[in-house]
Amino acid sequence: MSTGKVVAVNGNMVTVEVETEVSMNEVAYVVVGDQRLKAEVIRIRGNLVELQVFEMTRGIGIDDPVEFTHEMLAVQLGPGLLGQVFDGLQNPLPKVAEDFGFFLQRGAYVDPLPKETKWKFTPKVSVGDTVMQADTLGTVPEGIFEHRVMVPFGLEGSLKVTKISGEGEYSINETIAEVEDSDGKKTPLSMVFTWPVKRAINAYSERLRPSDPMITKVRLIDTFFPVNLGGTYCIPGPFGAGKTVLQQITSRHADVDVVIIAACGERAGEVVETLREFPELTDPRTGRTLMERTVIICNTSSMPVAAREASVYTAVTIGEYYRQMGLNVLLLADSTSRWAQAMREMSGRLEEIPGEEAFPAYLESVIAAFYERAGVVRLRDGSTGSVTIGGTVSPAGGNFEEPVTQATLKVVGAFHGLSRERSDARKYPSIHPLDSWSKYQGSIHPEKTEYARGVLFRGDEVGQMMKVVGEEGTSLDDYVIFLKSDFLDSVYLQQNSFDPVDGSVSPDRQRHVFDLLFQILSAQFKFDNKDDARSWFARLRQRFLDYNGTEWKTEKFETVEEEIKKQVEEKQVGVDETALAGAAGATE
Ligand code: ADP
Ligand code: MG
Repeated sequence: MSTGKVVAVNGNMVTVEVETEVSMNEVAYVVVGDQRLKAEVIRIRGNLVELQVFEMTRGIGIDDPVEFTHEMLAVQLGPGLLGQVFDGLQNPLPKVAEDFGFFLQRGAYVDPLPKETKWKFTPKVSVGDTVMQADTLGTVPEGIFEHRVMVPFGLEGSLKVTKISGEGEYSINETIAEVEDSDGKKTPLSMVFTWPVKRAINAYSERLRPSDPMITKVRLIDTFFPVNLGGTYCIPGPFGAGKTVLQQITSRHADVDVVIIAACGERAGEVVETLREFPELTDPRTGRTLMERTVIICNTSSMPVAAREASVYTAVTIGEYYRQMGLNVLLLADSTSRWAQAMREMSGRLEEIPGEEAFPAYLESVIAAFYERAGVVRLRDGSTGSVTIGGTVSPAGGNFEEPVTQATLKVVGAFHGLSRERSDARKYPSIHPLDSWSKYQGSIHPEKTEYARGVLFRGDEVGQMMKVVGEEGTSLDDYVIFLKSDFLDSVYLQQNSFDPVDGSVSPDRQRHVFDLLFQILSAQFKFDNKDDARSWFARLRQRFLDYNGTEWKTEKFETVEEEIKKQVEEKQVGVDETALAGAAGATE
């Protein structure tokens, strides 16, 4: 092991003089009395090495010894990750709570995976079989999944199985197999191995295009701004606009197997809330606790900034690990701005040439590299798995022109911009229907959404105009456009997340309801005057909200739908031909 000694301390950056070689990104420990503080090499200049320390640096003194491990910052991968709450360095927090009080004492590191737990192992290979990295040696049940015990990623070449344990109960550190490489070197394997967090796991056969939708059951997302499995999206929004709540809703209802939450909190209380709430939630899919298929990596604003960076990488690495099991993983990072600020702080200490708003010049490439770890992949056994990444961005004052939002927008596939105006009006989810976009093709009548968005744009124009000329100065036709757009907003874009029925809407139901809505939006109506139109739409909205709150495929649902259709017939005189042409054209 190489050693060095501290020559300078600047916030979380410590400069160390070394005599032997060290490498970039390797882990080092600064020894302060009886504490060993974890750190990472972030710059090497001759015999001077800069470390970012993941802990509070108070008390570190000149000449304090530093130990270099020659290992990159890594996570442990194995059964028992699901259901856990970790900090950015993969210390399990509830365990920590028992031993040390809620948050970890400085310099205390705890085994991430339970050592004593016995897992019921079923072998899937035999002695003499040839395997390679990421191949399944056996499985153990973990929650509702078959956890694949795999050949560690990074073990090169083709390997011969020389030992494999029989069916039975084993703890993670027991040897369950042994493999031999072409040089005759034998390696014993257990159910757990480590992987460096900053290196993407690519032990699959090929990357595929994200082509299947990730259903969130949020109408505004699935119908208008869809996200695909293996895709990426970002949720920028000002403080209090609903970013965290939207991610919580998504984590509960999204049609994925595993959810990983990387919480870099704006406020300490926010993360604690998540920790308290999550274990209480039931999984709508299984009726069991949602925590069973969730991993939370959390850092609050009171933890050292360097740990935020670690938490983002730890989260995505665990996501990639479960993708190797043929599962669909959703990673939600909240908020990536806190991570970017940590980068800015460290870059300032390194006295690097600053880019825009003092963020480092490499901000864009770091953000891009993070989102690139999302993707759908085909595994060697033919099955597929995916990691979808959704990150919130919290720009100061809600200004989307700032560097973190802009860098993120360049790389993601969908943009769900939250609007202060909408959240102030309590229009939830407060995703702005005019500013947001998605590059993914939706699965809910994509041929009809453009027309519906057109109604929103025109309605917005009329609304702006009415502010100037008043309702009297607006034509009846324009006024009806305005009413249609307002109707679409209140019965479809807005969704009551607390309502047991409206809170999550299946894709089939979205297709059915959006079809009816499209008929209304594209209908030509005959109204006597504006009052007539206004009161007619008010009645229709009431019926539609009633419809939204009614359980799908029940008698009552049919009845309300009939009432809606009858009301529409009363006033309909024709159809907007352009709507039908557009819809037909797009489906061809
Ligand atoms: P942000 O993370 O953007 O700062 P939050 O997600 O914490 O904002 O939301 C702030 C508050 O707004 C919440 O505490 C809640 O009262 C309200 N809110 C946000 N989204 C919704 C929603 N979908 N339904 C109801 N209330 C919401
Ligand atoms: Mg938040």
